[in-house]
Amino acid sequence: MMRPKPEVLVIGAGVSGLTTALLLAKNNLRVRIWTRDALLRTTSCAAGALWGPYLVSDQRVLPWATQTRLELERLAVRDRSCGVRVVYGHEAARTAAPPPGWATELPGFRTSRPDELPAGFTTGWWYRAPIVDMPTYLRYLYDRFTDCGGKLDQRAVGSLAEAVAEAPVVVNCAGYDARNLVPDASLRPTRGQIVVVDDPGIEEFFAEHDESEEPTYILPQHDHGRVVLGGSVEPGRTDRVPDERISTAIRRRCAEVMPALRDARVVEVRVGLRPTRSRVRLERTAVDGGHVIHNYGHGGGGVTLSWGCAHDVLSLINAI
Ligand SMILES: Cc1cc2nc3c(=O)[nH]c(=O)nc-3n(C[C@H](O)[C@H](O)[C@H](O)COP(=O)(O)OP(=O)(O)OC[C@H]3O[C@@H](n4cnc5c(N)ncnc54)[C@H](O)[C@@H]3O)c2cc1C
Repeated sequence: MMRPKPEVLVIGAGVSGLTTALLLAKNNLRVRIWTRDALLRTTSCAAGALWGPYLVSDQRVLPWATQTRLELERLAVRDRSCGVRVVYGHEAARTAAPPPGWATELPGFRTSRPDELPAGFTTGWWYRAPIVDMPTYLRYLYDRFTDCGGKLDQRAVGSLAEAVAEAPVVVNCAGYDARNLVPDASLRPTRGQIVVVDDPGIEEFFAEHDESEEPTYILPQHDHGRVVLGGSVEPGRTDRVPDERISTAIRRRCAEVMPALRDARVVEVRVGLRPTRSRVRLERTAVDGGHVIHNYGHGGGGVTLSWGCAHDVLSLINAI
């Protein structure tokens, strides 16, 4: 039997593609996802993931991030199995810096006392924010998407023209691979690696504020007895093989902040390629008489921006 053609074809099943596809399906559109990689092999699956806006000089970023935070907070309350938890924790800077404005508006915000700062850090602040266990959350989004009648095929798209021949509206959520698909030479890879360990009893998160190629962060996944340790920021590197030297350095830095992590058993190492661009590309273009809506280039903030960007895609489709 011939399957009915989708009204919307979403390319990609990372956090951008799944969130967008779910929102569109909830709004009664017939949606199909084509993804080259299985959910758990995407960059999204390698994210920490702590909610936190980045590239905030772009005026779209804070509204997208806030919309996403509110949705993640709702999900955390509504469905404990979705992989999202709102966690209290400490962000600290090695070089003196004021807290960003967005942080001061978060629940539980306060500045750190000097005796709370780990060695080597000079200022800090506390707040409550969503932490997402990405393997669980991606499966949750996929299940909700199929509950709404959405379909997913694991197959690669060779070109946007091929996609437009399949559906009148295409949403491009190809992450770093949009570089070749669009093509968009301004999109760059920024490799990142995390180490997942057994939880020795970590209650609060820790995140380094400084922009560095060796950021230190400790993100408890309370529902799974695991802790995500990070991280690395490696511009231009594209291999996805775990690097033992980087894992060792991550574990050492995290144990300096929380000594209980020193002998924690390593469960897995995850690697992803952040799709780095000077600004997120979210706009509608025409390809071969069809509509292509780009939603890629979220760099180190794709989880943080996911629901806000998905709502803008929906608005662009409604305006066609
Ligand atoms: C170590 C690390 C830590 C991070 N921590 C955080 C964090 O704490 N908070 C945060 O907000 N963000 C974080 N990020 C960033 C976040 O992971 C990314 O911004 C986000 O995953 C991008 O999602 P995406 O869905 O756009 O792309 P991806 O997850 O890369 O998904 C792209 C999808 O497109 C598909 N695709 C590509 N090309 C084709 C094709 N030709 N045909 C069909 N399908 C195709 C792929 O198969 C995949 O399904 C982190 C990233 C890393 C690496």
